[in-house]
Amino acid sequence: MTVGVWIIGDQLWRQSAAIASVPLGTPVILIESLDHIKTRPYHQQKLVLIWSAMRHFAAELAEEGHRLEYIEAEGFAKPLKAWIKTHKITELRLTAPTDKSFTEIISTLNLGCNIKLLENNHFLWTETEFKTWAKDRKRLLMEDFYRQCRRRFNILMQKNGKPIGDQWNFDQDNRKPPKKNDPSFNPPKPLEFKPDAVTQQVIAKVKQLKTPTYGKLDGFTWGVTRSQALQVLNNFITQRLETFGPYQDAMVTGQDTMWHALLSPYINLGLLHPLEVVEAVAAEDYDDRSLSSVEGFIRQVIGWREYMRGVYSIAPDDYGDRNWFDHQEALPEFFWDSSQAKMNCLKQCLDQTERTGYAHHIQRLMILSNFALVAGIEPREIENWFHSAYIDAYDWVMKTNVLGMGQYADGGMLASKPYASSANYVNKMSDYCKGCRYDHKARIGENACPFNYFYWDFLDRHREKLTTQGRMSFILKNLDKMTEAELTEIRELADRWHQEN
Ligand SMILES: Cc1cc2nc3c(=O)[nH]c(=O)nc-3n(C[C@H](O)[C@H](O)[C@H](O)COP(=O)(O)OP(=O)(O)OC[C@H]3O[C@@H](n4cnc5c(N)ncnc54)[C@H](O)[C@@H]3O)c2cc1C
Ligand code: SF4
Repeated sequence: MTVGVWIIGDQLWRQSAAIASVPLGTPVILIESLDHIKTRPYHQQKLVLIWSAMRHFAAELAEEGHRLEYIEAEGFAKPLKAWIKTHKITELRLTAPTDKSFTEIISTLNLGCNIKLLENNHFLWTETEFKTWAKDRKRLLMEDFYRQCRRRFNILMQKNGKPIGDQWNFDQDNRKPPKKNDPSFNPPKPLEFKPDAVTQQVIAKVKQLKTPTYGKLDGFTWGVTRSQALQVLNNFITQRLETFGPYQDAMVTGQDTMWHALLSPYINLGLLHPLEVVEAVAAEDYDDRSLSSVEGFIRQVIGWREYMRGVYSIAPDDYGDRNWFDHQEALPEFFWDSSQAKMNCLKQCLDQTERTGYAHHIQRLMILSNFALVAGIEPREIENWFHSAYIDAYDWVMKTNVLGMGQYADGGMLASKPYASSANYVNKMSDYCKGCRYDHKARIGENACPFNYFYWDFLDRHREKLTTQGRMSFILKNLDKMTEAELTEIRELADRWHQEN
């Protein structure tokens, strides 16, 4: 038997199951496929990040002694068949892809040799382990899963089995609004990397692509190697972690990253393993004050991230087509061109996404996705936009985060209530409203903020469905207090907005 290993673009880890299972000298292939990027207009910086990281990783493996083939091609099948023939490969070995769509691609390739998928080890929990945890549970509560994960990996635990600080959750210390107009409220600049010769070659390739793309390429400063990703991790721990927790939900004009980690692009590519990230953060010397930041971050990685991937792995085949609210509006054109956006909150988040391929969690959830939800955008359209726009987007993150958490398209399999809010939240957690042509306090009238009339229109349109969601009853009582005249104007404003956009 002759084994060959195919490493796909988000498996750039030396300990990834397939590459770790073979001796030096094994034929190994990586392929940059142009067909693969035709499915949607990807952010140009994402293409540079992935292809440059693949090229660097391939060079490292070659230096180590593997027989490396690095191919730039239209599709996957042709170069794979040629390579299999040249090396007389009888078993093509891969780490099982996280994205189901990639597993489908593999199944259609017809390569004429045995294909062996080894269980994916890029997460703390394998798919099999998550399935075992989820089996027979009435509700898949993230909190239950998170606690189990803390215990299982002994992260932030005391010897007596209790969590450090005697609490599982420090949310009450976090989520502070930003200090507006305070010059000392100044997040550190993110670590930037000057593109080396390899990255510059990829930038030149992306600039010449005929395929439609999204976003801006100038100013690409993302890391492209494991060593750079480790520097970002170290920078987060030493410069940003302590303030991460309290202001993790805050949004400030001109501060694209706040105190966020900027680690998702690297973890999702395999340049960092989530366990090493949480172990490094948990090993920090933290006091009572910074425990909330440490716990808050670890909850994101071993709680939310692992849970989202786990739910994706067990989601039914039709999960991606679900549309619980039956939303059918088209995605407004300004999502693809921020210069056309009039609402300041959307404009700020869209502009920075075009420039960097990045927005932090609350910008994604409570500005962009929230808007799509209350405005009734068809879920697959907004999912496609997120998948195109973000540097860290993959199918497994999209289905759960955008469709499940953001759009509630699964009817509550994942989130306990829809993440819908009015301008009140935006004004509290950001400084966006003060630079906006709309009035964040008004829900009707000429200058009414669209977030307001869409929010109440959303509650009104879906009153019946939302009544079944216990956590919505308080807000529905406020809807009941609204006069019919006000509701009529709200409906008219929402209709007019769609006609004009
Ligand atoms: C609508 C929507 C779209 C999103 N799209 C993506 C995406 O394309 N890719 C992506 O990796 N994450 C996505 N997320 C989750 C989260 O917003 C990003 O992981 C985070 O903003 C990445 O930036 P950071 O590394 O600076 O995050 P920080 O907040 O500094 O760090 C937290 C870390 O925890 C992990 N994490 C936290 N929450 C999640 C989550 N819900 N799902 C997965 N990982 C999580 C990430 O690895 C992240 O690096 C999305 C969330 C929403 C609501
Ligand atoms: S007023 Fe409304 S549209 Fe303007 S920034 Fe605030 S929430 Fe956004």
